[in-house]
Amino acid sequence: MPHRTPTFSKFIIEDQRRTPDRDPNLTALLNDIQTACKYIATAVARGALNDDTAVEAQTNIQGERQKPLDVISNEIMLRECEWGGKLCGMVSEEMEEPYAIPHAYPRGDYLLVFDPLDGSSNLDVNVTVGTIFSVLRAPAGTEQPTAETFLQPGTSQVAAGFALYGPASMIVISLGAGVHGFTLDPEIGAYTLTHPDMRIPTETCEFAINASNERFWEPPVRHYVSECIQGKAGPREVDFNMRWVASAVADVFRILVRGGLFMYPRDMKDPSKPGRLRLMYEANPMAMIVEQAGGAASTGRERILDIVPRDVHERVPVILGSRSEVERVVAYHQAYDNGEDLVFSTPLFKNRSLLRVLA
Ligand code: MN
Ligand code: MN
Repeated sequence: MPHRTPTFSKFIIEDQRRTPDRDPNLTALLNDIQTACKYIATAVARGALNDDTAVEAQTNIQGERQKPLDVISNEIMLRECEWGGKLCGMVSEEMEEPYAIPHAYPRGDYLLVFDPLDGSSNLDVNVTVGTIFSVLRAPAGTEQPTAETFLQPGTSQVAAGFALYGPASMIVISLGAGVHGFTLDPEIGAYTLTHPDMRIPTETCEFAINASNERFWEPPVRHYVSECIQGKAGPREVDFNMRWVASAVADVFRILVRGGLFMYPRDMKDPSKPGRLRLMYEANPMAMIVEQAGGAASTGRERILDIVPRDVHERVPVILGSRSEVERVVAYHQAYDNGEDLVFSTPLFKNRSLLRVLA
């Protein structure tokens, strides 16, 4: 019999045995989450075969048009995670208010925060989407969690991860000691350890940003991107490639495997929104994963995991990836805020397109 790599279930049970103070309830909760991800993977894989009229399209609380699969994925997460007795409450991108565990089920100590279907605008074009989740502990004695109960910084996460529904279905998790990736083996219906101890490569020549927002970027982000685009002839002395999948799960997974920088920075398109990605169920779990894989995650001005949320649906700027690249962008923000980055702070520069001028 050939050597077999562990399934997700076996891995988290053995990891619990290796970790003396690990709560078995957390292991059980992760097991429920992987079941939900299998159901969502199956629903997503049906693509256009799904009956789009099954759930009426609605507008979610962020004002985006919901695809029916967003709603279906949300219901799957609730259904698979509410019954086990490990949770005190849930918050989802798709629900304005926290979800209370039905009285029929026992309560537990954990809070689950999730984006049931990330990148769902990519569904129409059959590009990778995913599920992002973050596990927090409810303060002792919490009976009925309110939105305030969830407002904990990312450093309080006891586990975080995401599933990818792409050419292969995967789960990537961290329980605070490294990052591990599992690939769904369709022959046995189980996620199997394929990417143990993921480490973000430090050498990189890729960056990911939505360049169509260039005119709204702040000078430090223009500074960084302009240097990348100048390639070998520029100060970086290396030719960069640009990548942008527009599914955070796919972009972050690429960074885990190949290194590089992912930016959804603060921009001036809609000043009422300081960033695009949601702190609690996008930025925080991704930041934990990236830091645990040796990378860094910042808003440009603050470590993401240190932010104390004010709202469960709060948005933040996100700059994450290889540590040295994140540190470079953070340094450009500091220089700009201190008035030291004169070239990239001039009004003249703001009117010129990097992509046009430097092409
Ligand atoms: Mn999302
Ligand atoms: Mn979503």
